[in-house]
Amino acid sequence: MFEKVAYEKWSGKKIYHWLKFEMNFKTPNGNKGLTLSNIYLLLQNDFYYGSFEYPRKSGLWYKGAHEPLITKELFDQVQEQVKSQFVRSEGKEFAFTKLMTCGLCGSGITADEKFKKQKNGNVHRHVYYGCTKRRDPNCKCGYINEIDLLKQFEDLISEIDIDEIGVKEKIKSEVERFKKFQQSMLGIKTKVEVADLDIRNYAKYLLQEGADVEKRELLGCLKGNILLSEKKILLTK
Ligand SMILES: [Zn+2]
Repeated sequence: MFEKVAYEKWSGKKIYHWLKFEMNFKTPNGNKGLTLSNIYLLLQNDFYYGSFEYPRKSGLWYKGAHEPLITKELFDQVQEQVKSQFVRSEGKEFAFTKLMTCGLCGSGITADEKFKKQKNGNVHRHVYYGCTKRRDPNCKCGYINEIDLLKQFEDLISEIDIDEIGVKEKIKSEVERFKKFQQSMLGIKTKVEVADLDIRNYAKYLLQEGADVEKRELLGCLKGNILLSEKKILLTK
């Protein structure tokens, strides 16, 4: 499967169809675990080449206890391929506007997009969030880039009490479903355990790769209000 993505440039969708229709692949729960997002998760799971990074994006790599199923090189090629297939939806849609309030004046938060042409001719879309200034026309809240905002949401998910994540149970069952699917792919038959870290990691995955509706659900169900001021978010009770 990894070879097909890396060398034959198969898309996640193609893998999905291949598993489902050509290989007639079945998970123990009657294929309920086989979804396109699971395929993407599976392809991006470090587990397969035998090492893992903890904490995520820290650059600290550990060697897993199991025998690697694929080489690091092949894994990296798959990541490149998956990344290049991931096409962000264009157009005026902002995931996080209705979730935050201005921390300085209490107005709502709005977003705007800017298109910048790069040297190679590609056009890059930048999204900025800031105060609507309804309550205070002179509000000095400023604007924050969506990428920086996402980073802060990720940090928030890492730091908050796991029970503050309102959709925790939903995420837990999703992760459980995925793990069962993963185990059936590997032919492992042990009890599936979902750790708090798995829940946090999946929540962060949703922030990055989820549909806007999933991102809004995740953040909208945090127990508290999200305030934005001077490029910083703050969760208040
Ligand atoms: Zn404001």
